[in-house]
Formats: sequence, structure tokens, C-alpha cells
Amino acid sequence: MRTLRTIGEARQELQAFRRGRTVGPVPTMGALHAGHLALIEAARSECDAVVVSLFLNPAQFDDDADLDAYPRDEERDAAMAGEAGADFLFAPDPGEIYPPGFQTWVDVEELSRGLEGAYRPGHFRGVATICLKLFNIVRPQLAYFGQKDAQQIAVVRRMVRDLNLDLTVRSIATVRDADGLALSSRNVLLSAAERTAAAALPRALATRDPEAARAVLDGLDVDYVEIADFDPPVLAAAVRVGSTRLIDNVILEEEER
Ligand code: AMP
Repeated sequence: MRTLRTIGEARQELQAFRRGRTVGPVPTMGALHAGHLALIEAARSECDAVVVSLFLNPAQFDDDADLDAYPRDEERDAAMAGEAGADFLFAPDPGEIYPPGFQTWVDVEELSRGLEGAYRPGHFRGVATICLKLFNIVRPQLAYFGQKDAQQIAVVRRMVRDLNLDLTVRSIATVRDADGLALSSRNVLLSAAERTAAAALPRALATRDPEAARAVLDGLDVDYVEIADFDPPVLAAAVRVGSTRLIDNVILEEEER
């Protein structure tokens, strides 16, 4: 696996590699876990070049404390991505992605408003913008995202349609621990007691009913539990456990795809 540090390097390497071959990015913020690896494996199974991006995108954090607390370990991430079959690790510097004077943003207006958008102002503007920048740099035919962030997938798919990007967004089923908790880079921030409390989140969602889910979450600090009319529709929730905020969802109409 080759590590690419600059936009120029990424363009040059991928252009040489492309020539009729399929390029598939897996956008991540690092602190990789088995959920990320499932995305990399899916990309590996259908792309010629798998590009894992490692970029803790400041533009999608509305809370400095959240950004500061986010776990970082590039060496470990690089080893895991390489082992899972990535060909390239794209790990650019924030200063190159957002140079002085940067002022152009992608706003997927309606889909960015509810759920996460209501609690994290500007979050999806940051997500959509970084995804468009990554797609412009990598020029992929396919891109891989986790169903765990269902609203993110809806936002990115809408952007792809609205801006006529020539690529397909793949959604990969949520990978969970034995207690049902969805894997997340933030789970390492939970104490043992918080971890036990957090396991109520998947149990609540498994009811597939907002009222029943609220009852299961009784005593936790709940931001929302709502049915979201995405494709496919989901029951989505966000809770705060101590100072860690966790999100999850289950598909309502069919098996996860
Ligand atoms: P992040 O590094 O948290 O931005 O996540 C990068 C990608 O991995 C996103 O598309 C997430 O939806 C996806 N992802 C995160 N956690 C999981 C999980 N437990 N199972 C599957 N995909 C996941």
C-alpha cells in the first residue's frame, strides 16, 4: 500500500493507475475498526484500486472538544488498511484541503436539516464538501459508505444526483459487537459502565418502533429517536453516554443490504 500525502501525488498516482480500471474510495476519519474494514473489503471485491482516505475533517465538527477527543493513530490505521487490501492511503494535510481563503461549500439543503443536522449545525455541509473534494481528486466510479451513517448516505447520494457526479454510492451493512453496539471510533472513549449503558441503543432500535425504543432508552440522554424516510427507511437514534455521543439506526422495511 502506498501512502499519498498531497492532492498532486494522489492525482498523479491514480491517473497512472486508472486507465480503464475501477477506482473505489473508502472515506474515513481514521481510528479504523472492523466496520471500516468491511467497507475496504467490499471495495476490494469490486474495484481495481482501493483508496482509503484518512482525514479528520475539521469542517464536519461543530464542537472543538469532540474533534480534540477523537482518537488518532495513523500508523495503526495504515497497517490495518494495508492488511485489508487497500492499495492507497490518502492522508492529506488539513492545510492543503482547506487553504487560506477557502470559501466554497456544498449544502444539500433539506436532507441536512433533521436528525444529525439539527444537533450538529454545519455537519453535513462539511461532509458533502469533503466528499465532493475527494471525488474530484480520486475520480472514482464507486464509493463506499456505511449504513450506520444513514443520513450521510442520503446526503451524499443526493449530492451525486444533484451535481451529476458519475459514480455509484455503495452502502455497507453496519458491523456490530457481540452486545449489538455498532462499532464506532468513539466507542474507545466509553468507560466500562458507559459501554454497558450504551448497549441499550441497539436494543432500543431492535424494537423498530420509536415509542418502544424511547422506553428502552429511559434514563439515557436521548437527542432523538425517529423514523427517517430514507431509501430504505430507518429508525435512527442518537444518545449521549457521558461525554460521548453515539448514533445508530436499523433498516425498517427489509434486511440490511
Ligand atoms: P468514520 O471514520 O466514522 O467517518 O466512518 C467512515 C465510514 O465507515 C463511514 O462511511 C461510516 O458509515 C462507516 N462505518 C463506521 N462505523 C461502521 C460500522 N460499525 N459498520 C459499517 N460501517 C461503518
